[in-house]
Amino acid sequence: MTPVIALVGRPNVGKSTLFNRLTRSRDALVADFPGLTRDRKYGNGMLGDKVYTVIDTGGISGDEEGIDAAMAEQSLAAIDEADIVLFMVDARAGLMPADQAIANHLRVNQKKTWLVVNKTDGLEEHSAMGDFWSLGLGDPWPIAAAHGRNVSTLIDVVLEPF
Ligand code: GDP
Ligand code: MG
Repeated sequence: MTPVIALVGRPNVGKSTLFNRLTRSRDALVADFPGLTRDRKYGNGMLGDKVYTVIDTGGISGDEEGIDAAMAEQSLAAIDEADIVLFMVDARAGLMPADQAIANHLRVNQKKTWLVVNKTDGLEEHSAMGDFWSLGLGDPWPIAAAHGRNVSTLIDVVLEPF
């Protein structure tokens, strides 16, 4: 069975950028403003001899309060469909209240979740991890989706059980 990886997180953290890198497609729109990806988007990728499916989501608003408001239906659906959840946060923005709300949901979810800190390009890795430890989702993984930093290492580890 092909493992399914869901990309979730606030708007603008780099989910579509990572989706494009993982699927080598330009189909997922990437833009400088939040909320552009309105529906779930599916793509396939391959690392070594392992094939995987990636789901891009756009539906978690950083402006709302409470987990029910903060997690849009499509993101919850993507998590349900996934074997692996990559929860993305933004090293440049730092820890935001909406990150905390999403983390609270993911911590009680049974899905294997990885905390991925994006946009670490130009930042010293340890300080880029900042407060993200406090989310209680284990070791943060520093990446730069736009440049590929650490991306294949992460996917290699994530796919190991499959
Ligand atoms: P999404 O809303 O989570 O899908 O975020 P996008 O993939 O649309 O990216 C939002 C913005 O962050 C865009 O301007 C991207 O170019 C930028 N971005 C994405 N990944 C990186 C990265 O690794 N480093 C930097 N510096 N910017 C990034
Ligand atoms: Mg997007």
